[in-house]
Amino acid sequence: MTSTSSADADCLFCKIVAGHVPADVVASSERVIAFRDIAPQAPVHVLVVPKEHYGDVAVLAASDPALLAEVVALADEVAGELSDGQFRLIFNNGPHAGQSVFHVHGHVISGARLGWTPA
Ligand code: C5P
Repeated sequence: MTSTSSADADCLFCKIVAGHVPADVVASSERVIAFRDIAPQAPVHVLVVPKEHYGDVAVLAASDPALLAEVVALADEVAGELSDGQFRLIFNNGPHAGQSVFHVHGHVISGARLGWTPA
């Protein structure tokens, strides 16, 4: 787990934020960016990512709760623009929960009637 908010040279999502790795960006605000997941699990599957580097959602919530609220607000905006405004917002927190990129990101899942099978 990392807690720094400065860009991490080895972080994939910091590279996307910087424009050094391409991504299909669908929305952005001053501090948050949203881009389509490269392996979508639903008709709408977008990642909402703070531009500053925080390792996971717990670190973000403790460090800058207002920024976490901005992440949720951009998720809501994306779901409204790309779908019917209803969405699931998932933060995998830690490897055992499925986190593979250690720059906090919320998965916006929308565009279909969702079941409930998290395991
Ligand atoms: O929650 P987790 O850390 O596993 O989510 C990482 C997500 O980042 C995956 O859903 C993966 O498909 C996505 N990804 C991406 N673009 C990349 C690399 C990973 O959208 N270049």
